[in-house]
Amino acid sequence: MSLLVVGSVAFDAVETPFGKCEKMLGGSASHFSISASFFTDVSIVGVVGGDFTEEDQQVFIRHGIGTRDLERIDDGKTFRWRGRYDYDLNVAHTLETQLNVFANFKPKLSEESKAARLVFLGNIQPDLQREVREQIPNAELVALDTMNLWIETTRDSLLRTIKVVDLVIINDAEARQLTGIPNLIKAARAILSWGPKALIVKRGEYGAALFTPENYFAIPAYPLESVFDPTGAGDTFAGGLMGYLSSQEKLDEDAMRRAMIFGSVMASFNVEEFGTERVRRLTHEEINNRFHAFKRMTNFEEIPFQRVGQAVR
Ligand code: AMP
Repeated sequence: MSLLVVGSVAFDAVETPFGKCEKMLGGSASHFSISASFFTDVSIVGVVGGDFTEEDQQVFIRHGIGTRDLERIDDGKTFRWRGRYDYDLNVAHTLETQLNVFANFKPKLSEESKAARLVFLGNIQPDLQREVREQIPNAELVALDTMNLWIETTRDSLLRTIKVVDLVIINDAEARQLTGIPNLIKAARAILSWGPKALIVKRGEYGAALFTPENYFAIPAYPLESVFDPTGAGDTFAGGLMGYLSSQEKLDEDAMRRAMIFGSVMASFNVEEFGTERVRRLTHEEINNRFHAFKRMTNFEEIPFQRVGQAVR
């Protein structure tokens, strides 16, 4: 089995300046796995309640996503998140979080899941992330995402989890909040000093940057004229990134750079419609076309230059 994600499977209620949706499939594991399924075999570790319908489950089945470790608690309710975005779509305002079945969740991994080569610890309580990490000591690459809620309420536990992962994927505000350092480059160096080999900082409409102890690599976001709903963009980015890495034999920096482009490509589709709607309908041709557009957008030649002309004195 190639890629495993632990995270929330949720019903989201979202309001943006452009529209409103009362109930849609969301959650970090949902956005991540649907995105990753275009590149590799991916399975979810998570929990849903009795209100999670056959139709909801079919979304995963149709994308070939493994649900063996997606537990169902018939007399419980699925995790719910309600959020609002104002015109600055980079900032999500949480209006309500109902942990529901996540409140007592104990992740139990099947033998198949324990053999995963790559693992994504999606945005959930950091103790749960660590419990999963400890059950897969031999994974080749373990990545983690988090959010302001856990930085504020469970910071110590989060720091312990960060120490035992290879890659941290967070947004710029979270990097600043986590370290208390306003300069992003210094904040990134501080996070790397805690143990991870690499850090990716997501910067919403401004793109994303990769930090390793030796190198720095940054890409813009795909220029979109209409962004409809940014919910799940971060998880969709991580899904494309980890999904692509999972399809590669060598997980070196070149692969990581291409993976960042695939992550951005997937995220750019995600924000075009509510929830997971746009990504669900994607084709490989659309993904490849946008990958090429990204290359044209960022490619330039290095030509030695000489100063020409004479200054007028
Ligand atoms: P993002 O990719 O950062 O936009 O993540 C959005 C997703 O995170 C939504 O679909 C929510 O269901 C989920 N989410 C929001 N708050 C939490 C939380 N406290 N724990 C787990 N998942 C959450």
